[in-house]
Amino acid sequence: MQTSVEGVWAGGDCAESFHLVSRRPVHFALGTIANKQGRVAGINIGGEYATFPGVVGTAVSKICAVEVARTGLQEKEIQALGLQYVIGKIESMTRASYYPHAGKVTVKVLAEKGCGRLLGGQIVGVEGAAKRIDVLATSLHAGFTVLDMIGLDLSYAPPYSPVWDPVIIAARKAADAL
Ligand SMILES: Cc1cc2nc3c(=O)[nH]c(=O)nc-3n(C[C@H](O)[C@H](O)[C@H](O)COP(=O)(O)OP(=O)(O)OC[C@H]3O[C@@H](n4cnc5c(N)ncnc54)[C@H](O)[C@@H]3O)c2cc1C
Repeated sequence: MQTSVEGVWAGGDCAESFHLVSRRPVHFALGTIANKQGRVAGINIGGEYATFPGVVGTAVSKICAVEVARTGLQEKEIQALGLQYVIGKIESMTRASYYPHAGKVTVKVLAEKGCGRLLGGQIVGVEGAAKRIDVLATSLHAGFTVLDMIGLDLSYAPPYSPVWDPVIIAARKAADAL
């Protein structure tokens, strides 16, 4: 978070971040990033050493009853980078289908053609949909392929998820497309 001006540090909405998937500088005006960058700047100003690793572009929101989420790169961003990709897009349920208040969730996973590296994903659905994006965000930080994701030991109980979590089903679909 150190700037080119000695003694001046920057973080939050006025600072760029390094995108760990595209390997390009990006600007995301989010509190999640601002807090972490502020902490890193503060540690350094206080005489210790810390670095900010970068972002993968994770965001969630809610429009009335609909939850939306994104992480990593979207199709247009992947195309702009000139990468070839496959899509795994599925519709599933937020809970076991027989469980009260189970609702629809759509998950789209994007992976690099050939190697299968996860590039990004989007989720839309009813309550319980959006925070599933954190599994995709963590997988991006870890540099997982969609094949790595299929084996993830994610939790299951009827109030929370189908046996196969929707994110894993989408990763499987993308792996099939590889
Ligand atoms: C309506 C809304 C909803 C949001 N929801 C989310 C969300 O759900 N999740 C999320 O991750 N992000 C969200 N954000 C974005 C998030 O709030 C910002 O990215 C984050 O607050 C940026 O932190 P910052 O410290 O860079 O800037 P700010 O939080 O804007 O802090 C800058 C501070 O500097 C002060 N200041 C400005 N000029 C001067 C000056 N000349 N002298 C002294 N002080 C000054 C300001 O008063 C302010 O207190 C939302 C933003 C908005 C507007």
